[in-house]
Parts: sequence; C-alpha cells; structure tokens
Amino acid sequence: MALIVHKYGGTSMGSTERIAQVAKRVAKWARAGHRMVVVPSAMSGETNRLLGLAKELAPARQTPEYLRELDMLASTGEQVSVGLLAIALQAEGQPAVSYAGWQVPIRTSSAYTKARIDSIDDQRVRADLDAGKVVIITGFQGVDEDDNITTLGRGGSDTSAVAVAAALKADECLIFTDVDGVYTTDPRVVPEARRMARISFEEMLEMASLGSKVLQIRSVEFAGKYKVPMRVLSSFTPWDIDIAEEAQSGTLITFEEDEPMEQAVVSGIAFNRDEAKISVLGVPDRPGIAYQILGAVADANIEVDVIIQNLSKDGKTDFSFTVNRNDYARAVDLLKDRVAPALGAAEVVGDTRICKVSIVGIGMRSHVGVAARMFRVLSEEGINIQMISTSEIKTSVVIDEKYMELAVRALHRAFDLDQPAA
Ligand code: ADP
Ligand code: ASP
Ligand code: MG
Repeated sequence: MALIVHKYGGTSMGSTERIAQVAKRVAKWARAGHRMVVVPSAMSGETNRLLGLAKELAPARQTPEYLRELDMLASTGEQVSVGLLAIALQAEGQPAVSYAGWQVPIRTSSAYTKARIDSIDDQRVRADLDAGKVVIITGFQGVDEDDNITTLGRGGSDTSAVAVAAALKADECLIFTDVDGVYTTDPRVVPEARRMARISFEEMLEMASLGSKVLQIRSVEFAGKYKVPMRVLSSFTPWDIDIAEEAQSGTLITFEEDEPMEQAVVSGIAFNRDEAKISVLGVPDRPGIAYQILGAVADANIEVDVIIQNLSKDGKTDFSFTVNRNDYARAVDLLKDRVAPALGAAEVVGDTRICKVSIVGIGMRSHVGVAARMFRVLSEEGINIQMISTSEIKTSVVIDEKYMELAVRALHRAFDLDQPAA
C-alpha cells in the first residue's frame, strides 16, 4: 500500500464526463489499497476565461492591489474542480473530501500571480487519509501569511501536486495529462516526435525552463529538491486499464545520473514564443554599461534571459537581451525614458516576433560540435540566428518567430530524434 498523488490537468478535467472518468480512475487506485491525494487544475479554458473577464475591467496600471484581486479571481477555477471531483467520487461510493489551498494550508510568498510555495501543513490531509478518504486539494493556489489567496503562475497545478507529494513524502506523483508522456519535442508541432520512457531530471529541468509546457519548471525543481518520484502519463486511456500497466506507462523522470539515456547526444527540442528582444543601440562602450542597463531592468522586477553585447566600433556598442513578452512594454518604456538618456545611447529598438529554439541533452557534455551542427542545420534552412546562448547541456538560438516550426522540425530530423532509440 502506497501514498500516491495524482494530478489532473485542465483537459483531463474539461467536462463533467471527463471528471466522472477521473473519479473512476482515482477510485480504482483507492480500491487497490492506495492512500490517494488528488490535485486537479481548473476545467480547460476556465483560467483563461476568468483572466479575460478581469482584462475587460482592468485599471490602466497593474498595481499590487490589482494583482491580488486577479489571484482571488483566477483561483476559483480550481475550487470548482475539487468540489466536482469530490462529488463524483462520492457518487462512485468512494469517501472523498476537497480542500482549497487556504484550508490545508499551502503557505506561499505574497508574489501575486507567481507566488512560491513555502510550506504545506500535512496534518489535516493525513487525518483524512487515515479515515479512508481520498483527499482532493486545489492546484495552482495557496495563501500567504496574511491569508491573502495567491496563485503559482500558469501551469502551477503541476507544482502544487509535486509540493504536496513532497510534503506527504508520497511514494509517487503521477501527472496525468492530455499526452501520454514527455516527447522529444511538442508532439502537436512535430507529429514524428517520440515519447521517452524516461528522461533525466536535469534534462527535464532544461526542457521545462526552455519552454516545454508539459510540466511547469517549478514542479521539476521541487521534484529534484525533494527527490519526488514523478511520472507523466495519459488521462485518456480507458479508466479501467490494469493498475500495474498504468503505473509503468508514460515517462518517468529519473534521478539516476549514470543510467544510459535513450539518446546519445540530443534528447529533446524545446521552443518558446513567450520572449521579446530589446536592443539598446549606440551605447558608449565603457565599464558598467551592462550593469546600468540590466540593473535598471532587474530593479523593475523584470527577468532577462539571453544577453549579447556586440563588438565595439568607434567607442560605441549595441546591447541586446530578451525578456518575457508580458514585461516587454514596461522594459522598453523604462529604457527609453530613463536608461538610454542617462547613458547617452542612440536608440532603443525591440522585436516581439522572435522565438527561442533549444536543443537539450546531457550527452552534449561529452560531445563536441553539437552546437555547430545545430547552426549548420539552421543555415541550410536559410534561417538567420539572432542570438545564441549555451550551457553544458543545451544550446538555444533566438530566431524569427515565423521560422519556429521549420527550425524545430529540421533539428528534430537532423539529430535523429524521429528514429527509435538504438
Ligand atoms: P495540462 O492541462 O494537463 O497541465 P498542458 O497543456 O499544460 O496540460 O501540458 C500538456 C501539453 O504540453 C501537451 O498537450 C503538449 O502539446 C505540450 N508539450 C510541449 N512540449 C511537450 C513535450 N516535449 N512532450 C509532451 N508534451 C509537450
Ligand atoms: N489553471 C491554471 C492554469 O491554467 C493552473 C494549471 O492548469 O496548472 O494555468
Ligand atoms: Mg499544465
């Protein structure tokens, strides 16, 4: 008998029919003798709908007071889901109880719309489990120390589930979703993408941080920190599939370093359309410019990703970096109004029609020339590279957004990712 956490995403919870299927699946696991905790997302489209309503009424500036209300609103989607799932389980004859984040409580920071989980109280949940109930806890939401409701950022239910699993020292956290595992790249963009039976924790961390939205990055960070065994699998198999078979399906995130991976060099390709590029042109080339530009951006709480500074010519240089598209307008305003005049820079220009494509693989550590091969593939497709960023196990390029699918497909083919593993 094990303690298992199941997470069901929006599509898996998308209708009362789907919720009834989730209830049957969870009841099956409970009947097999497992202690079950379930963390569902809002029904698909619901979080977008709620945030859309707020947008219709939003004030001109995004004040902390506004962000607080956004969380108050967005968190309701998950509350609907837990209530419905508990009802569906009761209809199956399975005792179940649901809790909102504040009832557990799941304590978070006060950073509205992107709060971080600080602690989870397991007392109430354990008492219910001891009493033979399935415990259902809202994904995505928590409560700060002043009892304000917070949310964890888009896709945050993954993180709720893994954090709950860590707090309860669960035997496994199963992330049920609308694909049957983690693929070499998004199967909706590249139909030839292959499911990986396992992926190393480090590679999953890179894939998630570089844009593979199958798991929220923080959920992978949690799994790594607390060594939570974690698996991504489909909620669209028949609910009565054999448990032993189900428990081995999908993709396991492994922590074993020396285990031979499926792919020798590149394991997967991630991409992300969420960034925008900003360039400060004609900056006098002297010590401290990077600090003056990026320091001001950081002070405005804007995260910077890829950075390049060009060679200086006639004592002037160009400085470019990428930020999240949500922060783009704010960053450009700040640079134009304050930073460029202070620096004596000629111009601030931006481009929102970019994307970042990344190849990921721990095999890159021991192979030279992988990045060069990536650049060759892109040049053969006539795709211009605007920026490059590398680490031990990944190479990312920033390119024109319109070439994203072409680039991903070409790289997927060139690195043999559509071939079955040797
Ligand atoms: P959920 O609502 O269950 O949380 P998400 O939409 O957040 O589901 O995540 C699942 C989606 O992630 C898939 O439908 C797929 O399009 C996308 N995805 C992106 N990259 C990958 C990948 N490498 N492997 C599998 N799915 C991926
Ligand atoms: N409902 C939230 C969202 O749409 C959280 C999640 O689905 O993981 O982002
Ligand atoms: Mg998700």
